[in-house]
Order: sequence, then structure tokens, then C-alpha cells
Amino acid sequence: MELIDTHVHLESVADLEGAIRRAAKAGVIAIIAVGSDYESNMWILRESQKYGTRNLKIYPALGLHPWGLDVSRVDETIELIEKNIDSIVALGEVGLDYWYKEARKSVEVKEMQKKAFWRILNLARGNNKPLSIHSRGAWMDCVNMVIEAGVKKAIFHWFSGPLEALKKLLDHGHYISATPAATYSKEHRKVIELTPLENIVLETDTPVVYMGETVEPAHIIKALNAVAELKGERVEKVAEKTTETARKIFGIG
Ligand SMILES: [Zn+2]
Repeated sequence: MELIDTHVHLESVADLEGAIRRAAKAGVIAIIAVGSDYESNMWILRESQKYGTRNLKIYPALGLHPWGLDVSRVDETIELIEKNIDSIVALGEVGLDYWYKEARKSVEVKEMQKKAFWRILNLARGNNKPLSIHSRGAWMDCVNMVIEAGVKKAIFHWFSGPLEALKKLLDHGHYISATPAATYSKEHRKVIELTPLENIVLETDTPVVYMGETVEPAHIIKALNAVAELKGERVEKVAEKTTETARKIFGIG
């Protein structure tokens, strides 16, 4: 079985070499390392590919997470992404989060998120790069902005939003990613049920904590099994199809 973990915060993994070894053993052949801010993007550019092996390649993506934009180096981060755009496979993690505590309190923080996301979307469109999008609490705005910007390929990461936003993103040929939360989250499971297998990729969002357990890329198996169960398909077919889709989105061989 060959699997691609399409969304990993590699710079935050405690035992990285061990995690890579266990992932390869579980069938992971590629990891998309996403960045969140200036520092993590720098780490990804300098370090991430050193952890790749013969059997497991690491592909860099650079991003600007909607959390903390009020205190982070937005201009510098976007310049860094622009400067390195030819050496990355995607822009991520990027997006909007209206449930973020500062955004709940302040319209300005929401506006800041939208402005930064708009700049990122234009970079993606202009350079024909796919996106890994965080859309918590801002699902429809994210979908509308992606469509308005004319971006070709966007993955709505760990999508658990309302079904009209799902329908709209699917109508425009975009994708969702399934995480290990597919084993228990009612909203996420519903989204997977309603999304054609062709529009689903897998990920772990390592090192997020699911039900008290810190995840690592090897746990992608949980997302795989949950998708297979929800779609009523064989695990091997889901593995094959999601990997093929991820290869196509990121342009990796
Ligand atoms: Zn993430």
C-alpha cells in the first residue's frame, strides 16, 4: 500500500526520525510538510528534506496560518513564500479561522486574516500552486474567496463545515482531506460520506492531539480505514485512489 500524508507540521514532531521510520513501515511514501509562519517556513526550507529517505520523500509547502497574524511577520512571510515559490509543491497551511479567540473578539483580526489570505490566493493562482486550507468557522468565506481568486486546486483540510460550502467547493472541482478525526467526528464523517472518493486525500495534521493521543504520520491508517468504511470501499482501493489524487494535486511522481 502506498499512502501520502498531505498535511504534516514536521517541525513540531518530537521524535522525527522515529516517526518517519514508523510512517514508512505503515506504507507512507510521501509527506507534504506544511508551514505556518516565518520560523516554521524557514525550518521547512532548510531542514525538512533532510529527513526524507529512499522510501519516503518529503515535499515542502510554505504557509501563513490564520492564527496569530496580529503578532506574526505577515509581510516578511509572504515575501519568503514568493521568493521560494519554485521550490515548493503547495501553499499551506493558509486560510481563515473565525473561531480563533482574537478573531471572535475583533472584526479587525478577521479583516487581517482575509487580507493575508487574499494575497496568498493570488500567489497560488499566479504560480499555479495548489493550497492546503484551514477554514474553521469561516468555511463559506474560504470557499468563496478560493473561487473568486480563480485558484485551480485547493484542498480544504480536515473539512467539517456546512454542507452548502462542501457542495460549492466540490462543484468547483476542489478537494477535502480526511484525518484520523474521521473515526469519531460526526461533522467530518458526514463530509466524507458526501464527498466522491475522487475528491478526497488523506492526512494526519501531525502532531495534533486526537482524543488524547498525539498523532504521527503512521496514524494515517486510521483516516484510511475510516474513509474505506464510510465509502463502503476496499481499503486498498481507497489507498490507491487517494494517493493518485494527491500525486495529481501536488504534481509529484
Ligand atoms: Zn495543520
